[in-house]
Amino acid sequence: MAQYEKKRDFRKTPEPGAKEERPSWAGKEPIFVMQEHVASRQHFDFRIEVEGVLKSWAVPKGPSTDTREKRLAVETEDHPLAYADFEGTIPEGEYGGGTVIVWDRGSYRNLQEGASPKDSSPESVSEQVKKGHVTIFLEGQKISGGYALVRTGGKDGKQWLFIKMKDDEADARRDPVSTEPESVKSGMTINEIKGVKNGKDQ
Ligand code: MN
Repeated sequence: MAQYEKKRDFRKTPEPGAKEERPSWAGKEPIFVMQEHVASRQHFDFRIEVEGVLKSWAVPKGPSTDTREKRLAVETEDHPLAYADFEGTIPEGEYGGGTVIVWDRGSYRNLQEGASPKDSSPESVSEQVKKGHVTIFLEGQKISGGYALVRTGGKDGKQWLFIKMKDDEADARRDPVSTEPESVKSGMTINEIKGVKNGKDQ
């Protein structure tokens, strides 16, 4: 979380501080969020709750529901759990300057747990992140079912692929990134949020 704090000036950005808590909608299960972020480039930020922080990846094209699409995901710094609720505009000139919406959110479960009845010690998601192969089942409003994150490395070791797994939720005909642009928090699109005066409770 030191990196998260170092990159930001909390007198200038409306983003949550590193010590802010889990969002109120979160239940017992770990949470995930997919934020759309229009900064110097438009991208999505995928974050999953792992051991008290949001492990984070920038996904330039966003998630797919088609198992044949392998979406690039670039590992970024851990974010505080409260970030899962952040929607608003980060001032120009600040880190990540631009506009963010909560494109999708929900809970997830570790697919290694209960995958094999014989396996009494399934790998935790934290261990899977370290090893570079994560399989989780998302329960969002737009995206759901099994997703895999697979580290491919790249020159700085931060490149991964984000891939829909084969299951009942896979659907090559859907394209929620283009057909469902509204925030699941406010119902607004990123352009509508851009026009709203900032406030932490937006
Ligand atoms: Mn971002």
